[in-house]
Amino acid sequence: MTVPLHPDDSRQPVPATTPFVLEKTPLERYVAPEKPSLIGLSRSGLAEALGSIGVPAAQRKMRVQQLWHWIYTRGVQGFDAMTSVSKQLRAALDAHFTLARPEVMAEQVSVDGTRKWLLRLPSEHPGERPHEVECVYIPEADRGTLCLSSQVGCTLTCSFCHTGTQRLVRNLTPGEIVGQIMVARDRLGDWLGTERAKAPGLPTEGDRYVSNIVMMGMGEPLYNFEAVRDAINVAADGEGLSISKRRITLSTSGVVPMIARAGAEIGAMLAVSLHAVRDDLRNELVPLNRKYPIAELLEACRNYPGLSNARRITFEYVMLKGVNDSAADAKALVRLLKGIPAKINLIPFNPWPGTRYECSDWDQIEKFSEIVFNAGYASPVRTPRGRDILAACGQLKSATEKLSARERLALRAMAMTD
Ligand code: SAH
Ligand code: SF4
Repeated sequence: MTVPLHPDDSRQPVPATTPFVLEKTPLERYVAPEKPSLIGLSRSGLAEALGSIGVPAAQRKMRVQQLWHWIYTRGVQGFDAMTSVSKQLRAALDAHFTLARPEVMAEQVSVDGTRKWLLRLPSEHPGERPHEVECVYIPEADRGTLCLSSQVGCTLTCSFCHTGTQRLVRNLTPGEIVGQIMVARDRLGDWLGTERAKAPGLPTEGDRYVSNIVMMGMGEPLYNFEAVRDAINVAADGEGLSISKRRITLSTSGVVPMIARAGAEIGAMLAVSLHAVRDDLRNELVPLNRKYPIAELLEACRNYPGLSNARRITFEYVMLKGVNDSAADAKALVRLLKGIPAKINLIPFNPWPGTRYECSDWDQIEKFSEIVFNAGYASPVRTPRGRDILAACGQLKSATEKLSARERLALRAMAMTD
């Protein structure tokens, strides 16, 4: 089924994309690298790594500071480039470690600037095929949002989500999560001292192409809590990647017991995949609801630290035709969220082969969005005229498929967290 785009002619047509270009041949079996990568280590992890190659304790803090700068501000890919580090230490680092990022298997660049990378990650067991995850970059004039994966597959089985049907599940390491940011910055030339990529659609304001992060790719980030926490802390470090936690959004399907911990230990912006206003329906769409029903989920949201009108929780709501998209649902949604500083993201459903759902008709999305809007919530599907509402994250497929116009439509709606 194709969803009609907004009937308003002033919207830009959905631009064409380049083919999904395979850069590497798929491997039958994963071969482990000989040396570990330093990407994703915390400052203390880096100090330990330095200790392991004989750097005296008294020097470690200063060395960490140097390495941090080279790795996360300059984005260097080899120790040789670290000119402020002594030759001897550079050689020792090179003998034991790398600065490797996840391998880019394929890249797709859309003329609207959206980019998708297919990344290869090690399998869990020796001899298995490597895993693949996707990472998507969604640029707008004043920002560039990167949609990151936290797991290969997902253990939860939301009935409308393609990731939920995938069998393979492995948690990503902090290095693999941070590595997605590194890859994007490499590809965009988004490092201090490197030449920025020039292409239509890339942000024209701000001094960074990657300015925002959403944890909305594959996986449930709160089921990979420590790695996600550590990765976000690396990403937010003001002397490195420097992406402020106000610009990092973690999306959860509602792992209630972890929400308070996320507030205390991560402190990023929170997005909650609500998708239904009644427990019976949410049980079906997001089966985790049977464990943590709506009332408990909203209570955890109310207690999320630091909420204010300037710091709201984003409630994601996927628009499923005839399932959750009635005017009565919209009114119930508004009532339900009363008293919580909230934003509502209406996400056009992105269909996948074999799904039993369809995306709501555009008229219905408009009606729903109007009710939400009239209740005082800016609703992102009502973007200003003339602007495209493209592009998707959670529904990324691991095949080397082109990012369809439909997918980009959903993606962009999801990425609108502020
Ligand atoms: N596991 C987390 C984050 C990844 S999914 C979560 O569920 O929140 C990111 C978002 O994409 C979620 O709101 C999810 O419900 C939504 N999503 C998943 N599949 C989708 C699809 N086919 N169409 C539109 N949105 C989808
Ligand atoms: Fe997992 Fe999120 Fe998909 Fe649900 S929507 S199956 S939690 S990735």
